[in-house]
Amino acid sequence: MGKQTAINAESLIRQRVRELSAYHVEPYPCEVALDANEFPYTPTEPLAGRIKSAIEGVKLNRYPDPSAARLKKAIAAKEGCSEANIILGNGSDEIIQALIAAICDPGDKVLVPSPTFSMYRIIAHYLNVDAVEVALNDDWTMAAEAMAQAIGREEPKIVFIASPNNPTGALYPVETVMAVIEAARGLVVIDEAYIDFAKAPYGPLFKEYPNVAILRTLSKAGFAALRLGYMMMDEKLCAQVEKVRLPYNINSVTQASAQAAVEEWGALGPLFRQVVAERERVFKELSSIKGASPFPSEANFILTRIEKDVEEVFARLLKQGVRVRWFKDDRRLGDCLRVTIGSAPENNRFIEAIKAAV
Ligand code: PMP
Repeated sequence: MGKQTAINAESLIRQRVRELSAYHVEPYPCEVALDANEFPYTPTEPLAGRIKSAIEGVKLNRYPDPSAARLKKAIAAKEGCSEANIILGNGSDEIIQALIAAICDPGDKVLVPSPTFSMYRIIAHYLNVDAVEVALNDDWTMAAEAMAQAIGREEPKIVFIASPNNPTGALYPVETVMAVIEAARGLVVIDEAYIDFAKAPYGPLFKEYPNVAILRTLSKAGFAALRLGYMMMDEKLCAQVEKVRLPYNINSVTQASAQAAVEEWGALGPLFRQVVAERERVFKELSSIKGASPFPSEANFILTRIEKDVEEVFARLLKQGVRVRWFKDDRRLGDCLRVTIGSAPENNRFIEAIKAAV
């Protein structure tokens, strides 16, 4: 055996990576999975048929179209923009990574209202970029003044605003978002992962403001398995970020099926409305339960505070076959559970289970 056997393999990894904890996804199966903000429905005809034949036409021995031209064209038509305004990612996570890599030098800062989607902070951290957090108010509204002050003080290269926000569910009012855009000297990313369940999108803003990028995903609208995210922004910015996008990052099965989904997007409208109606029903039910205090939501999930021992309630839900998300280690969310809005029968299971659990 050579002296190399003495090397501690873990020590080969950079400090910034070693100090991260891995993104946590519960591995065990559960009858009613309401923890990942997935859409409860799969496509019906004619979309299902279109996706099937699109996949059948994929040549598995060939690399995907590197520019995903037909998919981009479909997205451009849906969004009323040019293909040159769009960058595609293997999930929107990948676009967040490309964007930070393209914009930030080591030691630069990004700014996020907190609590929010954890991947902004995690990706920034391993790219040697510091994520500065600005606390949301206790009702999860954003203090525009505090954001503007932090922008002035920290000079972040990117501000990430998820609206509706995950995990709070709040859609920020347009005045608040505009105040952040006006204060920013870097890029403002508005992450609209949950916009199909909300009243007002900010999408068109990127057409007026070269420092605004709009991030979207197909994951919450029934296509989580495809892993497709896209971002819309200034053409010149897009061309630069393209340089750090890995070649062939969107596989052919995703390109073909996502194109069909995007072209038939209108057909999903009634299903989005169904989720919204269920969300209002679940909210009412939760509000009537002593010991649960749900926050209003414009997304496909509801965050609720649990007055009793939250760990116990979480465990009791699991025992009844219902998995929700518990932010165990978060200082401000430790006593909260986030439940995804599922189909009506799934939601009924959750309501019965939580009534029995609290
Ligand atoms: N943004 C937000 C606000 C999210 O909640 C999520 C998923 N949890 C994502 C982005 C990532 O979505 P995906 O990578 O599946 O496109």
